[in-house]
Amino acid sequence: MMTFSEKLRRTKLWIFDADDTLWESGLYFRRAEEDFTSLMHSLGFDPEEVRGEIHRRDIERLEITGYGARPYMDTLRSILNDRVDSITPYMVDSLDYISASLLNHPLVLLPGVLDSLAALFSYGKRMIVYTMGEQDHQKDKFDRSGISGYFEQCTVVPVKTRDTMRELLAASEVAPENACMIGNSLRSDINPAIGCGVNALHIKRPITWQAEHIDFDTPELVTTVTGLPDILQLAGLS
Ligand SMILES: [Mg+2]
Repeated sequence: MMTFSEKLRRTKLWIFDADDTLWESGLYFRRAEEDFTSLMHSLGFDPEEVRGEIHRRDIERLEITGYGARPYMDTLRSILNDRVDSITPYMVDSLDYISASLLNHPLVLLPGVLDSLAALFSYGKRMIVYTMGEQDHQKDKFDRSGISGYFEQCTVVPVKTRDTMRELLAASEVAPENACMIGNSLRSDINPAIGCGVNALHIKRPITWQAEHIDFDTPELVTTVTGLPDILQLAGLS
């Protein structure tokens, strides 16, 4: 059987997740959650109970709305509306501020990302960004990232599935075994990729969103690293 390093060496298409793989994202959702639970606390609600409800509703709505900052804000808004009879300007303004900081959060690359991408690019690797959420919000972050020049394209889908992965491969004219998916999410990046016969590299991040807490379908097929620089080493490029 081929080792993972050998698989990486023959990889023709490098498919990168963006949020929490290339740049910080979960951190800003976590901050929005903190701000919202504090707001609810100020209105007399138990913050831990509110937190639990956010996570529950978030998982429920995923099937319907897909991922994204605006659907997330809708979850927060609906919790407020359900619990408070008369909404005051203070509450409306607070939610607006939370929403604005989430949608316009700073674009901060993760450690080693810049150098690793530059190196892969210098070796002539074909790279694309494959992310989920809302088209305009994700594209805006891609444009602000300063790394867009390294990628052939940025594809945004509402939810990542095996089908969206197959479409991506077909559009890129690459066989599954010649592609590698690199991402932090088991549910969205790793399991669908493996399910299509694509090699997968899991980036382990300290903050993982509640809805993403699931297991590997096939742990024996997945290699886990802590950051992009490890990939170069695995691929024998550093
Ligand atoms: Mg991610």
